[in-house]
Amino acid sequence: MKTELLYLSDAYLQTFTADVVDVRPDAIALDRTAFYPTGGGQPHDVGTLAGLEVTDVRKDPEGELVWHTVSSSALPALGDTITGTIDWTRRHALMRTHTALHVLCGVIWNEWRVPVTGGNMEPLSARMDFEFDPLPAEFGSTVEALVNAELAADRPIAVAFLPRDTAVHDEDLIRTKVSMIPETVAEIRVVDIVGLDKQADGGTHVHSTAEVGRIKVIKTESKGKGNKRIRLEIVDG
Ligand SMILES: [Zn+2]
Repeated sequence: MKTELLYLSDAYLQTFTADVVDVRPDAIALDRTAFYPTGGGQPHDVGTLAGLEVTDVRKDPEGELVWHTVSSSALPALGDTITGTIDWTRRHALMRTHTALHVLCGVIWNEWRVPVTGGNMEPLSARMDFEFDPLPAEFGSTVEALVNAELAADRPIAVAFLPRDTAVHDEDLIRTKVSMIPETVAEIRVVDIVGLDKQADGGTHVHSTAEVGRIKVIKTESKGKGNKRIRLEIVDG
């Protein structure tokens, strides 16, 4: 049994029905879900399932079932069909944030040919680390202007599912180390900010860059040799 991840093909799905396939004292697993489980740098969704508050969402260690932690002792039973609704304000903020980070990666790669080394996001705020040494002069204001120009350009964002063999030979995907994805994965989901940035990615994204709004660089700092951190916020356009 594997939970079908509805958000992979429709990030805008807010309400869904699903069957309960497993139950723990404080959590429910479903045959399908629109709830995003923590992973790939994107935090989990919150919302409701069968009217109960969902406070955490995680994949099991094998990555097969998605477990929704709920704040109640009266859980639905195995086999019940229930309705789920995600907190759209939080999710949409995370979609805008996640897309902004891909734009940031694309801009930095195009301008300086520097790869990303890590990152973290919360709704409308994030940090990303890049392999700069040192940071270019006026980096914060320069990168903010470059990213905001790309966001305003209203580039479409396309999600595709490619056979692994096709993806590993895609020139645009090679820099994101797509070949590191295990050989057992037959199909690779690709998020393409058309003309700017293409990544193998399991996260949720908005339909176009204009929907992100704008970014503000809050701080840049050194986290050591070849590791420089950018903190940013996402604001309305
Ligand atoms: Zn991503």
